[in-house]
Amino acid sequence: MRLVRCPICSLTVDFDAGGSRPFCSERCRQIDLGKWLGEEYRVPVGPDFGDPGEDEEV
Ligand SMILES: [Zn+2]
Repeated sequence: MRLVRCPICSLTVDFDAGGSRPFCSERCRQIDLGKWLGEEYRVPVGPDFGDPGEDEEV
């Protein structure tokens, strides 16, 4: 049995028991997911974001 700490609510949970690991519950998993998406939306798109490999000389 491995104990991990839920990154959302800091509750100690059995890593091998739940299906929402490393979170204590599905709810905390969703909270973390929403946090990630929220941060992603806040990242501004830079001018060199598009056309990958366009200026690559082969
Ligand atoms: Zn939790």
